[in-house]
Amino acid sequence: MSNLYSNITVGPLEEMLETEGTYGNFGGSYVPEVLAEKLKFLADFFDKEVQKQDFKDELIRDLITYVGRPSPLFKAENLSREIGATLYLKREDLNHTGAHKINNAIGQILLAKRMGAKEIIAETGAGQHGVATATAAALYGIPCKIFMGAIDAERQALNVKRMELLGAKVVTTTAGRATLKDAVDAALGYYIEHPDVFYLLGSQVGPHPYPKIVGYFQSVIGAEARQQILNAEGRLPEVVIACIGGGSNAIGMFSAFIPDKEVRLIGAEGGGKNTPQHTAATLSYGKPAVFQGTYSYCLVDDQGNPIASESIAAGLDYPGISPQHAFLKDTQRAQYEPITDEEAKSAYKLLTRLEGIQPAIESSHAVALAIKKLKGTGKLAIINLSGRGDKDVSREI
Ligand SMILES: *Cc1c(COP(=O)(O)O)cnc(C)c1O
Repeated sequence: MSNLYSNITVGPLEEMLETEGTYGNFGGSYVPEVLAEKLKFLADFFDKEVQKQDFKDELIRDLITYVGRPSPLFKAENLSREIGATLYLKREDLNHTGAHKINNAIGQILLAKRMGAKEIIAETGAGQHGVATATAAALYGIPCKIFMGAIDAERQALNVKRMELLGAKVVTTTAGRATLKDAVDAALGYYIEHPDVFYLLGSQVGPHPYPKIVGYFQSVIGAEARQQILNAEGRLPEVVIACIGGGSNAIGMFSAFIPDKEVRLIGAEGGGKNTPQHTAATLSYGKPAVFQGTYSYCLVDDQGNPIASESIAAGLDYPGISPQHAFLKDTQRAQYEPITDEEAKSAYKLLTRLEGIQPAIESSHAVALAIKKLKGTGKLAIINLSGRGDKDVSREI
């Protein structure tokens, strides 16, 4: 590719491509045999494809001309003055469709196309990943079904309409609590029964090879940010902060900095009300368990069964978590802290007023944690602004 693209880097990150799906004790693949075969095929296919120059060229072309990469690294001078630290925002909110999820959707749809998939399926909670997937499917002309809990579909009527306009069929399920976890179960069931289907998973969760694939396609965030901060400040940041739902925007940002031991990595979890029963802070309140195909932390009851999570941010409202973040926590390479709904709302308002940037309520958790951790320290930090906040205006912000 020409020099035009030389400022964009997409992996491969050595340790990600070497892993066989485990991160220390975490990760792996806990699925029925029929699924195990499909996942093995996908894992091998991915490993081969990402090494090919024409695959990388196609990916980078789409990231630049369709998604709008590289996203800017913005020095938030007003917020910096207010807080007493030097804060940069990585503007994933400026991507096409308004969040980081499109990076992964575009990457996986290229894989699907090359595998000859006849149909794309995906799960969605608030509808953000459903919209990103339906967008990518529209671009590549592949039929698409989005699985969604019936309760979520009702709460997120606007996103349901968007997906339908993009040509996707939205399939609702009334099983369980009719939310994200049940949508994943429904999508997995359909995936097992339909051999030509490609399952486009939206976060760094689920069985191998999904955490590896999603981590790879999101790694463009940190690769860009690391270069951008070096250009702007001539040095690495002291702290990097991102919000954690399943963990994909955070791993995308963190992975470039993992080898830089002096850079502190901190994840902001959806704390909800910050009690063990009313939270989505999986790494802070959960225990290691097998959940939806992987071994990682999970919010569980006294009997060890998964419980429903609770957070103001739909994108953070999931009882599971990426196995790679579980590993980073246990090895203490990264720290994770819960941010309450109220703290996130205050940060949303503050950033909007000070910088004219409305962050997604998910991303507001990262902003809130930055304020808490960095106040008066004078430190240099990057906050990953995973998405835009228009969708959250009608909430009680
Ligand atoms: C989905 C979403 C998240 C949470 O998902 P991760 O996989 O943890 O990144 C965070 N921010 C926004 C804007 C989202 O749409």
